[in-house]
Amino acid sequence: MPDRNRPVPRFVENERMTDLITTARARELVSTLTQPIGEEVVAIGDARDRVLAQDLTAAGDVPPFPCSAMDGYAITPGPAGRTLTVVAESRAGLPSDRTLSEGEAIRISTGGAVPPGATAVIPQENVEAQDATITTRTATRERDHIRDRGEDMKAGTTVLRAGSVLGAAELGAAVAAGAAELVVARRPRVRVFTTGDELKAPGEPLGPGEIHNSNGPMLVALVEHQGACAPPAGRLPDDRAATEAGLAAALDDADVVIVTGGVSVGPHDHVKPALSALGVEEIFWRVALQPGKPTWFGRRGSTLVFGLPGNPVSAVVTFALFVAPALAALQGRAPERLLYDEATLATDLPRNPDREQAVRVRLERRNGRLTAIPTGPQGSHIVTSLLGADALALVPAGQGALPAGAMVALEPLAH
Ligand code: AMP
Ligand code: MG
Repeated sequence: MPDRNRPVPRFVENERMTDLITTARARELVSTLTQPIGEEVVAIGDARDRVLAQDLTAAGDVPPFPCSAMDGYAITPGPAGRTLTVVAESRAGLPSDRTLSEGEAIRISTGGAVPPGATAVIPQENVEAQDATITTRTATRERDHIRDRGEDMKAGTTVLRAGSVLGAAELGAAVAAGAAELVVARRPRVRVFTTGDELKAPGEPLGPGEIHNSNGPMLVALVEHQGACAPPAGRLPDDRAATEAGLAAALDDADVVIVTGGVSVGPHDHVKPALSALGVEEIFWRVALQPGKPTWFGRRGSTLVFGLPGNPVSAVVTFALFVAPALAALQGRAPERLLYDEATLATDLPRNPDREQAVRVRLERRNGRLTAIPTGPQGSHIVTSLLGADALALVPAGQGALPAGAMVALEPLAH
């Protein structure tokens, strides 16, 4: 297990001296410094979408007893045309304790326990029912329409692995396995901050030079989508002292702090110096990625800090590539994975000579091939380029254009 408190390896120092680090290297560094934050026990009813923290084993056999798969009659196997006397009934939850003898049938419901002596069930549509007897219309073989004890789960076997996300199927299996409470990963506590004197709350009228704060609600939604929890985003003005004061409290009680904007080198970008003054160690700053170059990552003790660019598209892209995998790892689960991890590019794409590009794409099957179609203008301020995007296509740095028909790697863009 990597130790989040150990010193950052030397080679990182060197990389910091040079220019930008690659997206892959940056992701590796985040991953190295991220480990599960702990567990808690919750009732099944509160466990939806949580991450299981310990393997779950079946407390008993499931089904717990041999039972009928059909509404019909529990009998012994035999040919068609037999007339049998109906002597009792075994309903779901109300078994019959009568032992079946030759020439007898016991009426049985789906899920009803198969009574002693019976080794087959004949569905009711395959018999002619008289007052107190039935006549079989079909032949019946040993074990017909009987569900064996333990056919689904055997007592003591592992039903769910640690790291599983608890969706409907997992909750159903856990209950069948006998669980009432589950040990799940604690939800990471995240504090999101936006920076910028130009930002106005949703719906507020805009004065000269002002814009609406898209990133606040967007990042909180992304955080919650990853199973972490975040109160509404805090706002930091473009002021060094206020930035430091606002971040100080969050650093004390959050597992992850996310700041958007103010991480560049402009005269009004105060995030980096404020974090440094608060004792947050810089792990990397500036990634060879478009959009997303000014991305900053650091930590203080076990608290991870992400400085994401202010442009909304850059914030979402860098969240997807760096923050989402970290929030997954803090909960002990694998990062989200796409069903297909590459696609054919639909159009030529100009490459950036120095930076890998993360292009928002729609995915569509064309002529039998999974095809990545850019969502339109890709500027980092074009919020609408996120609409309808199914994934990020990673276009490597290079000269000239990447031609239509080339294969591109895909990354999830959970949103
Ligand atoms: P900065 O990194 O602070 O220089 O911001 C880069 C660009 O992103 C500027 O045009 C900002 O106005 C814009 N921006 C910063 N924060 C937000 C936000 N929360 N919502 C929308 N746009 C933002
Ligand atoms: Mg700013």
